[in-house]
Amino acid sequence: MRKKIDIHTHATLQDPGMDKYLAVMDKHGVEAALVHGSMIEGRQNEEVLCAVKAHPNRLYGSVYVDLLKPVPECIELVKRHADEGFKSVKLFPNFGYDANDEKYEPFWQVVEDMNLMCLIHCGWLGHSKERAHLHIQSLTATPFHFEVPARRHEGINFIFAHFGGGASYLETVTLLSRLPNCHADTCPGWGWWVWAHRMPGLEGLDFSHVLYGTDNAGDGYERDEHWWTMHLTSMGRTKDDLDLYFYGNAARLLGIDSE
Ligand SMILES: [Zn+2]
Repeated sequence: MRKKIDIHTHATLQDPGMDKYLAVMDKHGVEAALVHGSMIEGRQNEEVLCAVKAHPNRLYGSVYVDLLKPVPECIELVKRHADEGFKSVKLFPNFGYDANDEKYEPFWQVVEDMNLMCLIHCGWLGHSKERAHLHIQSLTATPFHFEVPARRHEGINFIFAHFGGGASYLETVTLLSRLPNCHADTCPGWGWWVWAHRMPGLEGLDFSHVLYGTDNAGDGYERDEHWWTMHLTSMGRTKDDLDLYFYGNAARLLGIDSE
């Protein structure tokens, strides 16, 4: 069992303080996790705050921000959570904004000034009856919609979740190859899909930009670790690449000392 950091987890309605999840992490060698807020009940910023307060140095917070709200309101929310020790901002651009828009520049400046990273849900967003009335689209949830802030703010580390989405994974490959502050996680389903299908362009990628994230693998961590180890090795990845993927890159981004 290798030591791991999971860069992409959530609280749940059944386990709001994530006490049960901590026990699962202990069992499977997951030393730390970044916990992202969202709009879903049980996964909101209040639950994230409660979980990270209960488990310092194991769980790290990522504040969900809705960029359809007025920018000063978003800035206020980010500042408040940075003061609580949060490490990251979580965005769902599927709701139809373009994060490259010039009006967001003051927002990005604060994210950089507060030393936060930013994890972006990319690609398809799950469908449900409750969300059916919302304006949900995949088109705005791609890495290129973050190119302007990524070019301007080298102090912000961007992580494109789900490897930037299935159809748009080449945008991820492009930005990871060009900008040192761009990263991606391999979270299921599209993050897994892109790698499982050995899509063109993945071979030459610098693995100091690729991170292990699971959207709560739970007791699936063991099987998951085995699958990724075998699969990436079969794609020619070295032991050093795997160490960075499972642990080193996330430790660097979160500022965790790797002894
Ligand atoms: Zn997620």
